[in-house]
Amino acid sequence: MCRTPQDVLEFAKEQKVEFVDLKFMDLPGLWQHFTVPISHLTEEAFTEGFGFDGSSIRGFKSIHESDMILIPDATTAVLDPFCQVPTLSLICNVFDPTTGKNYERDPRYIAQKAEAYLKATGIADVSYWGPEAEFFILDEVRFDQNQRCGYYFVDSAEGFWNAGREENPNLGYKVRYKEGYFPVPPTDTFQDIRTEMVQIMQRCGINVECHHHEVATAGQAEIDMRFAPLTRMADQLLMFKYIVKNVARKHGKTATFMPKPIFQDNGSGMHVHQSLWKNGRPLFYDENGYAQLSELALYYIGGLIKHGPALAALCSPTTNSYKRLVPGFEAPVYLAYSQRNRSAAVRIPMYSSSPKAKRIEYRPPDPSCNPYLAFAALLLAGIDGIKNKIHPGEPLETDIYELSPAEIGSIPALPGSLEEALKALEADHAFLLEGGVFTEDLIQAWINYKRANEVDAIRLRPHPYEFALYFDI
Ligand code: GLU
Ligand code: MG
Ligand code: MG
Repeated sequence: MCRTPQDVLEFAKEQKVEFVDLKFMDLPGLWQHFTVPISHLTEEAFTEGFGFDGSSIRGFKSIHESDMILIPDATTAVLDPFCQVPTLSLICNVFDPTTGKNYERDPRYIAQKAEAYLKATGIADVSYWGPEAEFFILDEVRFDQNQRCGYYFVDSAEGFWNAGREENPNLGYKVRYKEGYFPVPPTDTFQDIRTEMVQIMQRCGINVECHHHEVATAGQAEIDMRFAPLTRMADQLLMFKYIVKNVARKHGKTATFMPKPIFQDNGSGMHVHQSLWKNGRPLFYDENGYAQLSELALYYIGGLIKHGPALAALCSPTTNSYKRLVPGFEAPVYLAYSQRNRSAAVRIPMYSSSPKAKRIEYRPPDPSCNPYLAFAALLLAGIDGIKNKIHPGEPLETDIYELSPAEIGSIPALPGSLEEALKALEADHAFLLEGGVFTEDLIQAWINYKRANEVDAIRLRPHPYEFALYFDI
């Protein structure tokens, strides 16, 4: 791994690099990039940066104040795995040339501030993050980008329902409904594609724990990375998505991280495992605690539960996210915690009794989130829980999907829609402003962006199923 600009320049020389691809994050959470010849990459470039026009970047500045600078982070240097000509990939921070400082809407900067804030509180010196991003590998997707009335159709040949549609002759071994988890090939037709994805991830310095088919019928997959610190993990997750999408494309397939592409089948979540450490010691473990959790871990959970509705606006941030967060598909609906059941928002994994493995799993997030913002927000909610000793109440051991309305009683629920989540964030975001991590400007920009471009865009469009319901009225 490169540490300094000199390391990067040496690495580039060794690898006969001809171009440098500069990558950075827009506000909603999609990598953006531009490419410069290697001759432009000097040691000074790591402090002076590369100028670009930020006016057309989603969620960034308006056109009259659009000049921005990218400062590459030397520690993110890898060979881009997909460019035909040797190209160095660098993840960058966005700077504002008028102030010479970090651009305050740069999501990566928010993540870095969250890590610094954790240290400054003295609670811990590092947080570790393990997101389990699920996704679908599909044969084809058809939709009209400019649709005036909504219509889209996803086609996949792997599932039992689709038997024979694409395969001729049909040789059987189809994934039965919700039984994708996880029979061996030939039922699992994506073994080699996932392995190729993992090989490339490893070459890019990502430490992978395992890959497997997921529950859904039509080519759902999961690849799990070994935990890493906050910003580093968010960087890795973007490289992960880049690799998944490009390997699928190479095989004539298409991958999507959309949380609920297929009605009545499991959606794609991104459970986020998290823990705090200080002086090399794990802080979430106590052998006598509930599920071997320390009091500090319980307070962290208390913060997540208290701020769960507001967190949803950043962790489950699309209109489609709320089609996933419904009963019956292993996605959480209620803000409770449990060591056993997967219907609770917070699960305490019990795979290992080692203090080092003690962590909590927050299940509401999905891979449509901007990981810099989502991880930072989760950390701040946890810190708020610890600082204010917010106890999460009693754990809930029963399957919440099975409870009657009376039994559910006062268990708080996750928001039912993106608009509800945005309202919750509007009402509850003081915890995000602590330590200057998030700014009021960024929160408002997020809410406005999401309302205008997503909530209203869906709310105002006739839905395809409305035609089935109402066309003949
Ligand atoms: N796909 C499920 C979700 O939407 C999670 C399945 C699992 O437990 O891995 O969260
Ligand atoms: Mg999974
Ligand atoms: Mg999980």
